[in-house]
Amino acid sequence: VSLNLIMLGAPGAGKGTQAERIARERGIPKISTGDILREAVAAGTELGRRVKATMEQGQLVSDELMIAIVRDRLAREDARRGFVLDGFPRTVAQALSLDEIMRGRDPLIVADLAVAEADLVRRLANRLVCGSCGTNAVVDAAGNAPKSCQQCGGPLVQRKDDNEAVVRERLQVYQRQTKPLLDFYRSRPTFREVDGAQSPERVAADLSAAVDSALKQITSTQGAGR
Ligand SMILES: [Zn+2]
Repeated sequence: VSLNLIMLGAPGAGKGTQAERIARERGIPKISTGDILREAVAAGTELGRRVKATMEQGQLVSDELMIAIVRDRLAREDARRGFVLDGFPRTVAQALSLDEIMRGRDPLIVADLAVAEADLVRRLANRLVCGSCGTNAVVDAAGNAPKSCQQCGGPLVQRKDDNEAVVRERLQVYQRQTKPLLDFYRSRPTFREVDGAQSPERVAADLSAAVDSALKQITSTQGAGR
């Protein structure tokens, strides 16, 4: 059974890091929408040219274009044995298209990294960046930030877009958009919620166990269907 994993989670929930980690552990590609948009533009394909034009006009990439790009990417050889999708789908319309794209392949597993809003606000408001080189400061497991930049020794400052009002607004937008998506996936037997308010190591272990239980679920269902 292929691990076809979708990662959901609010900004600050640690989704990108966990997606990266499980993809590496399982030897499958992590596919983030930001990366595939950049790849498509760099490759200069027809789709890439359309993405470039859209972004140059300062507009959001449309659902239709995004879906076409994901379809393309998931058809590539390295994604046939599984993938971790990060940042897609964002809407129910995209989720429906993804089901269409996945027809004939192993079922999707959906993992939601759940973190309470108060924790997210605290995490995001504490996010520091180097004032000289822009590198993100890495906070240790106990939540302590370093005194200066680990790359260049420069002074650490709060990220411009990370003050509390902006953070709350971003979270509200996320919740408004994502609630219908969670409702769409929640009733599936391969939906798993993972407690994201733990240390990254604990989250990784829980995510791994959740994924294995969903894979087992798929295997038993497929076995019963034969
Ligand atoms: Zn620096």
